[in-house]
Amino acid sequence: MSGLSPPKIVTLVAGTLYNWQTNYTIMRAKSVKPCGRSPLRTAASQIWELCRLKIPPLSKLRIVLFPDPILKKKAAEVSQFGEPVRALAERMLELMREDKGVGLAAPQVGVGLRMFVCNATGEPADDLVCINPQLVELSGAEEREEGCLSIPGATVTMRRAVRAVMQAIDVEGRLFQLAQSDLPARIWQHEIDHLDGRLIIDNMSTADEIANRRVLKQLKEKYRASRKR
Ligand SMILES: [Zn+2]
Repeated sequence: MSGLSPPKIVTLVAGTLYNWQTNYTIMRAKSVKPCGRSPLRTAASQIWELCRLKIPPLSKLRIVLFPDPILKKKAAEVSQFGEPVRALAERMLELMREDKGVGLAAPQVGVGLRMFVCNATGEPADDLVCINPQLVELSGAEEREEGCLSIPGATVTMRRAVRAVMQAIDVEGRLFQLAQSDLPARIWQHEIDHLDGRLIIDNMSTADEIANRRVLKQLKEKYRASRKR
């Protein structure tokens, strides 16, 4: 999600940390035997792990733009945690910051996994990685304009819940629950939509359709041209 209004600090309403392992069975990555400290062997092991998770080399990850079909696909649950997922999350945070966004979902970098990163304030301490996130409570409703890093130039008025409680897993495989309101809650809803293949332009009002027509047409032309190369 791209930031449209100045980010504001929103107080954490409640946060509960559970030990994911007591509730769920984790399929940890069957590693690759320890490879010693050789940088070459460590790199080889990382590449192997990325392949297992079907993640392209991280340096090649870019933000995927509309109308790339991956944006319309439902992403798959993450079942392995640890280094490859942490590395992917770090790269996603980097790409999000480069584009001055406040949230980025894995399908937006061409990875069909249920995870997103976000930061509503821009402070490094507020970086959040959410894996297999679920909104367990939503309340209130408010209309606000939203943008999307995958649809640069488009803005759509979206009606979203004002407050949300989310359960997700961190990169180490631990379940956590957070409650937030306003911007962070809106970001969560926007990013979780991405994991289900939903975009802000899917149900636009007539006014938004007209306002975004040109931008969407240009993005479609650009995409078609890139496919011909
Ligand atoms: Zn988006």
